[in-house]
Amino acid sequence: MPVLVMRKLTRALVAALIVAILVPSAALAVWPVGTRSSYVSQWYSSHHRAIDIAAPYGTRVVPIRSGRTVFAGWRNNCGGYQVWVSHGNGLYSAYYHLRREVSWRGEYVTGGSETIGYVGATGCATGPHVHLEVWRGYPWASGSYRINPWTYIDSGYYEPYRYR
Ligand SMILES: [Zn+2]
Repeated sequence: MPVLVMRKLTRALVAALIVAILVPSAALAVWPVGTRSSYVSQWYSSHHRAIDIAAPYGTRVVPIRSGRTVFAGWRNNCGGYQVWVSHGNGLYSAYYHLRREVSWRGEYVTGGSETIGYVGATGCATGPHVHLEVWRGYPWASGSYRINPWTYIDSGYYEPYRYR
C-alpha cells in the first residue's frame, strides 16, 4: 500500500477513534441548571454530599444525563419537591428543593434538554437553589452512597472510592 494512502487511513482511524471515545464521554453528563458558571453556594464535602447550585426561582432544571425518572414528588427529607433519575449501572442523580416537578415515575428524560422541574426553595432550603446528589445505588436505600456530582459531571466518570 502506498505510504500516502497509509497515512490517510491512519489519520481517518485516529479521527474515528477520537469521535468514538472522546465525544461520548464529554457528552455524558451536563450541568443541570443555568450555565456551568452558575454560582455554586456549597460544594461536595463529607458534611454535604451534594452540590448546591444557586439559581433564580423558576429556572428550569434538566437531568445531568439521560435516564428514567424513578421518583418525582414531595418527600419529608428536607428536600421538598424532588426528582430522582436512574442512569443505569446503579447510578442515580437527584434534584431537590424544586418549586415543582414536571416529571413522573417511569418517564424517560433526555439529559441536558428535558425540563424535569423548576428551581424553588421547598423543604429546608433558605433560598432558591438546586441541591444535586449523585448516588451509587437507589437513593436512600441501605447500602447506597453518594458520590461527588462534580467529578461525574466533569468527566462522565464517578470516583470509585466509597465515601461513607
Ligand atoms: Zn445542599
